[in-house]
Amino acid sequence: MAFELPPLPYGYDALEPTINKETMTLHHDKHHAAYTAKLNEGVAADPKLEGKSIEDILGMISSLPPLVRNNGGGYWNHDFFWKIMTPKNGGGGGSPTGKLKDAIDAYGGLDKLKEDFNAKGAGQFGSGWAWVIADSSGALKVVSTPNQDNPLMDDANDKGTPILGNDVWEHAYYLTYKNDRAAYLKAWWDVVNWEEAGRRYDAAVG
Ligand code: MN
Repeated sequence: MAFELPPLPYGYDALEPTINKETMTLHHDKHHAAYTAKLNEGVAADPKLEGKSIEDILGMISSLPPLVRNNGGGYWNHDFFWKIMTPKNGGGGGSPTGKLKDAIDAYGGLDKLKEDFNAKGAGQFGSGWAWVIADSSGALKVVSTPNQDNPLMDDANDKGTPILGNDVWEHAYYLTYKNDRAAYLKAWWDVVNWEEAGRRYDAAVG
């Protein structure tokens, strides 16, 4: 069965002014749709991938061709990205609670986490992603990956469960922020879905 493009969990204009409607429309309907279609091409060409979940595929990505790596990563990353954001008037922004808050305090606090995350995002040369990941002990780490790679890939330098992730490809911000990636990274915290991040953290630490 083919992978399907998941719908946005809110309207195209719901994250304005942080991310504008045109960016969201192109990003979901064109970019994410293309990753999905090309992932399906790669899966259709390889019988051993039939019936596998996207997480299974990412876990064996080192043995698969670039078509599957780039588009399988793009498929998973964007599905995660839409869910880890939410409109400001629907709970976006704010601050973490529960076990995730405790883990962020142990990391050095929310301000330090944001500072390190923004620095990783700004420092990622070319296209890629900034991540907060949790290891099996629940400790948080801030990392970045190139292209559509992610921390679930079997050959990732920093493996872990993604808790937060921000897309720093130019297509994610250029229409609003032009070349100012740092301004985008700073503004993005206004639409972070801390409730979803907390759920993912709780699931990661069991
Ligand atoms: Mn993207």
